[in-house]
Amino acid sequence: MENTSFAKETAAVNTEFLSLNPSTLEVIGEVENTSADEIDRKIKNAKIAQKQWSARSDAERKEILLKVAEALQQNSKHLAEWITREQGKPLSGPGSNFEMQACVGWTQVPASLDLPEEVVFEDDTRKDILYRKPIGVVAAIAPWNWPLMIAIWQIIPSLRMGNTVILKPSEYTTFSTLEMIKVINSVLPENVLQVVTGRGEVGSYLTGHPEIGKVMFTGSIATGKKVIEASAKNMARLTLECGGNDAGIILPGLDLSKHIENLFWGAFLNMGQTCACLKRLYVHENDYENVVKALSDYSANIPMGNGADENNVLGPIQNKMQFDKIQDLLNDAENNNADFLFKGQKPDQDGYFIPITLIGNVDNGSRIVDEEQFGPVLPIIKYKTLEDAVEKANDSENGLGASVWGDELEEAQKIAAQLEAGTVWINQHGAINPFVPFGGAKKSGYGVEFGVEGLKAVTIPKVISIKK
Ligand code: NDP
Repeated sequence: MENTSFAKETAAVNTEFLSLNPSTLEVIGEVENTSADEIDRKIKNAKIAQKQWSARSDAERKEILLKVAEALQQNSKHLAEWITREQGKPLSGPGSNFEMQACVGWTQVPASLDLPEEVVFEDDTRKDILYRKPIGVVAAIAPWNWPLMIAIWQIIPSLRMGNTVILKPSEYTTFSTLEMIKVINSVLPENVLQVVTGRGEVGSYLTGHPEIGKVMFTGSIATGKKVIEASAKNMARLTLECGGNDAGIILPGLDLSKHIENLFWGAFLNMGQTCACLKRLYVHENDYENVVKALSDYSANIPMGNGADENNVLGPIQNKMQFDKIQDLLNDAENNNADFLFKGQKPDQDGYFIPITLIGNVDNGSRIVDEEQFGPVLPIIKYKTLEDAVEKANDSENGLGASVWGDELEEAQKIAAQLEAGTVWINQHGAINPFVPFGGAKKSGYGVEFGVEGLKAVTIPKVISIKK
């Protein structure tokens, strides 16, 4: 890949980026910036390939994508090792082998679903048929937390519906993504799926390109807004998943013994670096001590360390930027007299490790509660009444997910109905499913992924209206 400057639209970007193993700080490689000329060339090839790809029958595309799923399955061990090396999540537990199984599932399901034409109106005078047409070239901007799985969420539905895709992985997780793209491209025709690499500027050039018809973005609200600005140039359609600051409410008197494992992983999946992790927990004041004790006891037994060691199920923070951000929030909590209710063991080695940390004596208005910490830190906030808990849970600019934990289903559903979020889980958190639409309310983004709704999002509706 060339490394020339972005003379056309952006400032020169010549500094390469080093991808590191976050457990050991070993250098994996130098990530090059794809040049603007190279991006132009790739988009031109993607446009040509899109004509041929969309001309294939739906059944043919389905069959090819099911073969992609098989290839991912066959290479899942190798790719999981790459994820662990570069992203950091452990091989074991809900880690990189789990991420690879999700990649396989999220390929099989969109490949298998159907979105047939639909007669939306018919009477004696006319018949109106709704068809779903591909948009063209899709730019996929993937983040570093679930680098392969989220890239798959963006790529596979787009391809299924006849688009071609240009993916930009996060600079932090480029090499593992390139390994996966090699596997996928061993099945796909040429130029149906291409990759550009480098820093955010590369993503910026790609998303603002006049020939891009759709952007699938997962990342921060700040960058999501830049993608919206870029779309003013090309009017690209957008699906934006901009993270969350998900609240969980434990209803009074919950039998914790049944829920503690789900509660733990709801908050600490991927060391909390998950868009739909539980990031604020609201607990009735009478239950507070019990919840803190149960979560502390459970957390004390979860081993953290280099994810390549299969004994570990918790790993490092993925990168220094995120490590510093979490550390800053912890310092702020400490300076504002927060209680450090529990602090887990931190492995004695290099790497961006932050122990599981439970924090009390904080409330809405504390930075650790109001800001998405995206790390293994959980503020636990007391409430007196459920009205108070709901109000505090909704007091956020985010609205991706939320959860209610209760033994009485009807009561839990009543509270779930009042929460402002794209998904409210009951007695689980972050339990996404490839058949079930997933998207955010408020500043968590717009558009949905997964299921038939996710397929619709990468198409243009086209009506043919016939006079009778
Ligand atoms: P970003 O939003 O900057 O990164 C997400 C993706 O966008 C990356 O591929 C990034 O590339 C790319 N990108 C960066 N700038 C642009 C641009 N101008 N145009 C198009 N694409 C661009 O997130 P950060 O990595 O900076 O993380 C910041 C915070 O965002 C985290 O602390 C967390 O709170 C949240 N986050 C949420 C995620 C989610 O799942 N919703 C995932 C990751 C982060 P590159 O990495 O090369 O800069």
